[in-house]
Amino acid sequence: MRISGRTKITGIFGYPVEHTLSPGMHNAAFEKIGLDYCYLPFLVRPDYLEDAVKSIRALNFSGVNITIPHKEKVMVFLDEVDEEAAFIGAVNTVVNSGGILKGYNTDGRGFMRSLSENGVEVKNKDVAIIGAGGAARAIGYYLSRDAGTLSVYGRTKERAETLVRDLDKVKGNVALMRDILEVQKFHIIVNATPLGLKENDPLPFDPEVLKPGQIVCDIIYKKTGLLHEASKKGCVAIDGLGMLLWQGVLSFELWTREKPPVEVMRNALKAAIKE
Ligand code: NAP
Repeated sequence: MRISGRTKITGIFGYPVEHTLSPGMHNAAFEKIGLDYCYLPFLVRPDYLEDAVKSIRALNFSGVNITIPHKEKVMVFLDEVDEEAAFIGAVNTVVNSGGILKGYNTDGRGFMRSLSENGVEVKNKDVAIIGAGGAARAIGYYLSRDAGTLSVYGRTKERAETLVRDLDKVKGNVALMRDILEVQKFHIIVNATPLGLKENDPLPFDPEVLKPGQIVCDIIYKKTGLLHEASKKGCVAIDGLGMLLWQGVLSFELWTREKPPVEVMRNALKAAIKE
């Protein structure tokens, strides 16, 4: 990659940030289509978040991604927040338009694009989300809008109840799932917990209850134990690589207003995961 005086800067603010796969994905895309941009990782300690956001303006960055633990806290430091990101309550993409910083959330739409590229149609379907954290909230916003019904199961009941109450404002079709084994009733099941990230993690639920034809998604970007078991039971198993890819594609489009080479980005992600 050739850096010149004209190179536009993007990147990611996180703490920690060293495990991010996004620099490989974005830089491969910039290079492929000859865009004079680069994407860098920035370790931003929580105490420095406000200064880091100011630096987007001061150093004339085109924009950045925001990751754990800053997605919610960053919002107060921005000039504007897109309506959907405001509803979700988290921002993962900031765009600098002439010094005006606007926040967006591309995680949920990224997940929906991943479903559609796998041929999954959510209209009139009953969907279950396991987990009630930030990712569940972003995904749940779009699922409640587009699916028939949405049910949420959470380890901490109060957190799940709050998410159900908030998401139900979108279309009035969201309910709390009290027993995780109810997953057997749903067309689509989404694991939005970190269970499966580590080798020895337990499965989020007993896969024996799954039935052939159910769609089981994990937003963790590798083939988790849950997805292996779901495939064995004849379910369609979708991992989180597509969500990671498409949230990146949408951020890329917001910064550059160009169409990125999606397959180059996908291959860069796969290569980074293998490393
Ligand atoms: P988060 O805000 O910390 O929420 C995690 C949720 O999972 C919480 O509801 C938590 O329950 C639940 N949970 C955690 N450990 C659990 C366990 N041992 N048993 C049952 N439930 C458990 O995290 P997040 O930002 O939503 O992220 C969740 C996962 O999604 C992470 O693994 C992250 O890597 C992945 N992710 C992927 C993408 C992608 O692009 N593919 C994007 C964003 C996130 P409590 O409510 O009880 O705390």
